Amino acid sequence: MRKNIVAGNWKMNKTLQEGVALATELKSIVKNPNCDVIVGTPFIHLATVAELLKGSPIAVAAENCADHASGAYTGEVSAAMVKSTGASYVIIGHSERRAYYGETYAILKEKVQLALANGLRPIFCVGEVKEEREAGRQNEVVKAQLEGSLFGLTAEEFAKVVIAYEPVWAIGTGLTATPEQAQEMHSHIRGLVAAKYGREIADGCSILYGGSCNAKNAASLFANPDIDGGLIGGASLKAEDFKAIIDAF
Ligand code: PEP
Repeated sequence: MRKNIVAGNWKMNKTLQEGVALATELKSIVKNPNCDVIVGTPFIHLATVAELLKGSPIAVAAENCADHASGAYTGEVSAAMVKSTGASYVIIGHSERRAYYGETYAILKEKVQLALANGLRPIFCVGEVKEEREAGRQNEVVKAQLEGSLFGLTAEEFAKVVIAYEPVWAIGTGLTATPEQAQEMHSHIRGLVAAKYGREIADGCSILYGGSCNAKNAASLFANPDIDGGLIGGASLKAEDFKAIIDAF
């Protein structure tokens, strides 16, 4: 059956030294979690944090990777480079990347394919903005995001993808989707995956919720049948807060 996962997304926070301190503290307090645990760090932290967390139950993710394999793309970091740090996951399609860096469905499709080709598991983010939810369009928006970037994958490739449903209106705002809203969307996503890849792959697909998830609301979200954990921004920046969310499982 599918895995429960709690994944942190540090975003553009923490110097290298602060990141090492956070990872060190996490390593000492996260011992036998009842779910898979991942920390998503800035590129420059990856190699050091991956080395530090070796032998611990915590895996490491990049927050992005390039949409080209290699070459003259100054400032970019390829999926192969991410893999070479010891990271095993990469967050792709975060709404901040879509909104601020113009990442289209086609660009994200390339990134997903490069991640998989280099042995990284994508944590692929989808989610509607406030206006789209207010117009009742959330289901079609998320469907288009999945179809536009993921549904060209083979079943074997898709089986390695983790999906994170992150309603954009809930990210960093303190507004959390209700457990009912989240469950409804997660069930919609699983249904779309089942229609495309079959029931077995859909049942094996971990679908995480993200958007102001914290120690107080995690348990009520994770209690739902189609919510397999969380992608955590703000509350992943303090070891104890992140641990409390892990302990919700
Ligand atoms: C995120 O950015 O992935 C996220 C879920 O952020 P926050 O938890 O801070 O809302």
